[in-house]
Amino acid sequence: MKAWRNDAVNDMELQRLLSMMTLEEKVDQLLQLAPAFFEGANSAGQITGPLEGLGITEATVRRAGSALGLGGAEEAIAIQDAHLRHNRLNIPLLIMADVIHGYRTIFPVPLAIGSSWDMELAGRTAAIAAKEAAAAGIHVTFSPMADLTRDPRWGRVMESTGEDPWLNGEYARAFVRGYQGKDVAKEPYKIAACIKHFAAYGAAEGGRDYNTVDMSEWMRREYYMPSYRAALDEGCEMVMTAFNTVDGIPATGNRKLMRDLLREEWGFNGVLISDWGAVKEMIPHGVAENERECARKAIEAGVDIEMMSPCYPHHLQELVESGEVDVKLVDEAVMRILRLKRKLGLFQKPHRYADPAAEQDILLCAEHLDAAHEAALRSCVLLKNEQNTLPLNKDMKTALIGPFAVSDDLLGPWSCMGKREETATLAESMSLLAGSSALTAVGCGVESITEKELTDMLTAARSADVVVLALGEASEMSGEAGCRADIRLPGCQLELVQRVRELGKPTVAVLFNGRPLDLHGVLDEADSVLEAWYPGTKGAEAVAELLYGEANPSGRLTMSFPYSVGQVPVYYNAFNTGRPQSDPSAPVRYESQYLDIPNEPLLPFGYGLGYTEFEYGQAVLSSDELHAGSSLSASVSVTNAGSRAGEETVQLYVRDISGETVRPLRELKAFRKITLNAGETKEIEFLLTEDMLRYHHSDLSYHSDSGAFIAMVGPNSREVQELPFQLISGVYGTTTTT
Ligand code: BGC
Repeated sequence: MKAWRNDAVNDMELQRLLSMMTLEEKVDQLLQLAPAFFEGANSAGQITGPLEGLGITEATVRRAGSALGLGGAEEAIAIQDAHLRHNRLNIPLLIMADVIHGYRTIFPVPLAIGSSWDMELAGRTAAIAAKEAAAAGIHVTFSPMADLTRDPRWGRVMESTGEDPWLNGEYARAFVRGYQGKDVAKEPYKIAACIKHFAAYGAAEGGRDYNTVDMSEWMRREYYMPSYRAALDEGCEMVMTAFNTVDGIPATGNRKLMRDLLREEWGFNGVLISDWGAVKEMIPHGVAENERECARKAIEAGVDIEMMSPCYPHHLQELVESGEVDVKLVDEAVMRILRLKRKLGLFQKPHRYADPAAEQDILLCAEHLDAAHEAALRSCVLLKNEQNTLPLNKDMKTALIGPFAVSDDLLGPWSCMGKREETATLAESMSLLAGSSALTAVGCGVESITEKELTDMLTAARSADVVVLALGEASEMSGEAGCRADIRLPGCQLELVQRVRELGKPTVAVLFNGRPLDLHGVLDEADSVLEAWYPGTKGAEAVAELLYGEANPSGRLTMSFPYSVGQVPVYYNAFNTGRPQSDPSAPVRYESQYLDIPNEPLLPFGYGLGYTEFEYGQAVLSSDELHAGSSLSASVSVTNAGSRAGEETVQLYVRDISGETVRPLRELKAFRKITLNAGETKEIEFLLTEDMLRYHHSDLSYHSDSGAFIAMVGPNSREVQELPFQLISGVYGTTTTT
């Protein structure tokens, strides 16, 4: 066996290493395969199992420069050792995985973390995920997903932080900071982050995964790009392409998107990886006739690593040798990959932090479980609370019924190495707090309820003082390819709500799901509704504490809940039409409206309640004029008018009354989370500056315009106080695009 070391520690040495590599060895670096599938090689060296159709041989698998997979420290060490044994130049393997909301300790899904409006918490969850993953031998996570989402039919909304470009950018930064630290090379137990999916994957037509995306460049730059850009500004090491088309060309073969925008204009010099199989998907997309053409288009567009399809290993060498592809493109891609390997210290320490003993100590340790518990508490959103049905009184007899009463499906999609059996059920957690004699729990399926289950549930409900309905979607109903055209609660759950209502008991609905739902039949029927999302490993405990009032819900929605699926996409930062509903001169029939439902979503962006009431004083601006280089302050006093401490998220929005392009009715610019004791008042001050008013113009330049604006302050995007002001004299900002 050869020595591990390859002392490629600086760029010159990497260049020397590159010069020693054969073309075949270079192409090897540009392939990523999943080692979990390596096992299936038959005696002829052909891969069986999931890689079978790809026509990849075991030899290719052994040479691939990066691996996609999980399996723990022991496996990571074994794979790295096996790889290095076969690698002439001792170039280590990069190991990547989807560590999305935790590795083994599972946090609430990203949409839930989004509802916390807490960047420190978001960053902490990512740092913990990184620590566990690093100890298990992972070097890179395919996270965060910064795709802007406006369509709850799309299953992957659970993996995003919502519909606001600025807030998504703040979260993307927080996650990147958590994974990578200040310096991924120097801080222990950090892993590289990979922002995805570049670009505009969240805008799939009809909310159907992988579907066409088509929008103006202006729209893309103004709404869809800022969050990717924010992650890169934070130093995110990698970017992943998207499956969808952009301007008629699949993102993975889109030169303009990746070479012109990402590399040239934004200056990104890290590794760009395709999404799973996306290079070869250019054939069904209809822009390549065969794998060879896919390989050429992908390398020309700027894809460094091909994930899980064989176009590079089968054709790139020949494309270079025939002169169709410039070897410079291959060399540049290889150098970017080698640099990342060097930065992660793999040349010196190919196992990096992979360590079975450390893994034992770190995974699910008390500190991580506490953070998961805190994250779950802070992500739940109280949507309704009439008659103060919540918090529940522990002395009351409670019937806990419905598909999530005794379910352990609380981790949600993309739950990595999380184990359902390590997760308590809501019934267990509520019994721990209230005592099992106070609680009768009866479960059922998400999509079907047997006669016996229904009878048992209604019997339990009849003899209880209060009914808690634990409802939701099975985790397979969201996540990748988990799209739904009907976004009401599935199966007979609405009927169950109805049957319980007929009993006339106080009723609480707790929802476990991965998207904004159409909540008709729940929000109007139940007295109280708590959105728990998929709350993760410690989710049931947290939800039980919220239900019994041991903690106070504080989450706020970051995606609008539609009135019905027919409104979708519906989002708070929309444009007016020329026929706004409020225009008194328009004949009613010709307003921009539906004849059968309102225009407004059922629950707006920024919305959420708690167990106390907050009162807002009169908001004021320090001046009605804003000059560049100075600031305006918008202030408001907030009082906790209830009888217990609580947390409020005070939000600042702005509307540009007249732009060069149309401008949204409101845009989030800042927020402040405050904790107030009962009776306490705090003065909140926001500073408004000119740079907050910049936007993309029709020539894609990014700057502000003088003129009239309205600042808005309030507890959510709907209930705001309006404060008009003027931006004085001239055009500010850069004329370059961002
Ligand atoms: C998903 C990516 C993921 C990749 C690797 C793809 O299908 O779209 O988000 O990172 O698989 O698992």
